Amino acid sequence: CGIIGFTGKKEAQDILLDGLAKLEYRGYDSAGIAFFKDNGGHISIRKTAGKVNDLRAICDDENSSTCGIGHTRWATHGGVSNLNAHPHKVGKVTLIHNGIIENYHEIVEKYELQPVLKSETDTEVAAALFDKMFNGDPIETIKKTVPLFKGSFGFCIMFKDHPGKIYCVRNVSPMVATQTEDGTFVASDLTAFITFSRRYFIVPEFSIVTMEADKFTIQDLEGNPVEPEYLEVNWDV
Ligand code: GLU
Repeated sequence: CGIIGFTGKKEAQDILLDGLAKLEYRGYDSAGIAFFKDNGGHISIRKTAGKVNDLRAICDDENSSTCGIGHTRWATHGGVSNLNAHPHKVGKVTLIHNGIIENYHEIVEKYELQPVLKSETDTEVAAALFDKMFNGDPIETIKKTVPLFKGSFGFCIMFKDHPGKIYCVRNVSPMVATQTEDGTFVASDLTAFITFSRRYFIVPEFSIVTMEADKFTIQDLEGNPVEPEYLEVNWDV
């Protein structure tokens, strides 16, 4: 329901938790975050059914990671539980998702994913499919996996051993992004990062956005470069 991602020069944890708190008005039942631990290739996750303050309470004060993703969930598939909260991690893939993967049953059958699933969500099936398709190259993996989904999605994905990078792709579900002196941001809604920037762009559908600390690269599913079209907020906040 609510998504935020940050990679940059500052510590990510407070940016993500504060961003999630700003998205609270959308309504949600669970919250979670994932980081590249100590800015290396390993990913750590904290998540819980409940509110952003419940998530804050189980977070590590010492977390100095500068790259992470955060999510507030509005359960559509699978009940409200710690296990069903996002992020979902399967193998080398950790992701958050807004929306609904309508053909998740068919995907489980066709790609024999049942053994790796621990939750009841459509989202974990998507994580399992990305992991099954993962060949070491995140972009190539996203290109071949995304066309297999039916439904709505906004994904932010972190791949093990690719520290500092967040990959985003969407269909229907809203997603905006921006770059600042402090780093690059993505969110389901501009309010999540508006204290850092009034400039933003709408992530084009079916484009792969690669976020790094100091830049974006965007391409379509055929590999053609896509230029972001920046907009500016002109209302007072
Ligand atoms: N369909 C997913 C779930 O139920 C994502 C829901 C959302 O957009 O928060 O976990």
